[in-house]
Amino acid sequence: MAYKTINPYTNELVKTYPNHDDAYVEKTLSKADALYHQWRNQPVKERTVLLQAVSDYFTAHTDELAKVLTIDMGKRLSEAKGEVAICAAIAQYYADHGEEMLQPQTIKSSAGEAREEKHPVGTLMMVEPWNFPYYQLMRVFAPNFAVGNPVVYKHASNTPASAAAFEEAVRNAGVPDGSCTNLFISYDQVSNVIADKRIHGVALTGSERAGKKVAAEAGQNLKKSTLELGGSDAFIVAEDANLEEVNKVATSARLYNAGQVCTSSKRFIITENHYDEFLAALKKSFAQVKWGDPMDDATTLAPLCTVSAKEKLQAQVDDAIANGATLEYGNQPIDHPGNFFEPTILTNITRDNPAYFTEFFGPVAQVYKVKDDAAAIKLANDSDYGLGGVVFAGNPKHGAEIASQIETGQVFVNTYFGTLPELPFGGVKNSGYGRELGHLGINEFVNNELVVVNPEPKVDFENTFGGFV
Ligand code: NAP
Repeated sequence: MAYKTINPYTNELVKTYPNHDDAYVEKTLSKADALYHQWRNQPVKERTVLLQAVSDYFTAHTDELAKVLTIDMGKRLSEAKGEVAICAAIAQYYADHGEEMLQPQTIKSSAGEAREEKHPVGTLMMVEPWNFPYYQLMRVFAPNFAVGNPVVYKHASNTPASAAAFEEAVRNAGVPDGSCTNLFISYDQVSNVIADKRIHGVALTGSERAGKKVAAEAGQNLKKSTLELGGSDAFIVAEDANLEEVNKVATSARLYNAGQVCTSSKRFIITENHYDEFLAALKKSFAQVKWGDPMDDATTLAPLCTVSAKEKLQAQVDDAIANGATLEYGNQPIDHPGNFFEPTILTNITRDNPAYFTEFFGPVAQVYKVKDDAAAIKLANDSDYGLGGVVFAGNPKHGAEIASQIETGQVFVNTYFGTLPELPFGGVKNSGYGRELGHLGINEFVNNELVVVNPEPKVDFENTFGGFV
């Protein structure tokens, strides 16, 4: 696996990073394991104060951290600054709430004074993608640092500078060496790490292909895993929706981060009374997009992350059209060495078109016309994925009723899809399992150890447990 930064705006090689050898991996795991054993006996507070320092560090170094992201994977600088800000917010959230969230819970029981204690499980292996290089790491690192689980991570091979910068930022903030270690390693080495006895959990964000492989390895080694995979989220415009509000949101919901977001609105499902007006507005808005240098504030569309990502998207669009989709807008080549892809709108995608079940990871909108709200819900659920979703409805209560009927992990009504530290993030179906962030995220890799104490010894077995063991 070659770890290298190729600037997506110029396609010039910026830097190649040598792989870590097995001796380095061994040293890393042994350091992390030692920390885990030390942390087991330390109060949570000793780590949450360090998360505050991590948050402060990210805030204080926003500009330099953001530039690394832009050069590594091409996102617009303003979006990169936003990513650094959400990282600071996540660290802050677990600094503020981690201790309280990890308090023992009392259980009413006839067995005695029962409580569920929250202990760390040990070191975790993370495998993370390039689209939000810091945010994906922070979502797992911050809660697990509070818990007392060190993390080691394999980041995407095209964002090595971000991988290294995150490790450096956390270390500079004062977090002990071994708490959060970047590994430039091959897939085979990832397998070996997962199998290592000192690893007690695996968290992956990425494609279904990688998820199946890594989760299978975790399963073979009896390690718990969480998977944050792809999505083809529905954006439903209900019959009673206010289209003026919808139009303010729709373009960004698809084009943010050049459309490379697992929870982008990829399928616009529009009730027929709004369809023509919505489509016309989306075309107009896509036509106003200004592609260009992601470092330039005037740019509104960044390049895709790699040449192969652009080629893959182009092949998907070509295939969709070959199978009968109507090209409503875009799909024209952009004459520039960067990986630009013109915002594109496809309609008339029938169920037998492969595009119907495919995630388009870039600035391509699928737009569907449906008769009514019931048909919109049915179409939204006719998907292999279930990650996020957006519903616009004139009556928010009605919007919430629609949201509840969508088979997905998270839905936002009358607003953008967003992520915040307190909101658990994750999906169902092929979008994965488990949650990151919020109170659910901090509990994914926790040993909820049951301790039952009797003030007086209770040794009458038959009467205590009714004979059940
Ligand atoms: P990907 O190819 O699966 O890569 C993700 C990570 O997995 C990278 O670090 C990659 O390393 C690694 N990887 C791939 N195959 C592996 C294997 N056999 N063994 C060990 N590691 C392996 O994902 P992608 O296509 O670049 O990323 C986009 C996908 O991620 C989309 O489907 C998107 O929706 C999803 N995503 C989901 C979320 C979420 O929270 N649900 C968030 C962001 C993205 P290399 O780079 O070295 O191959």
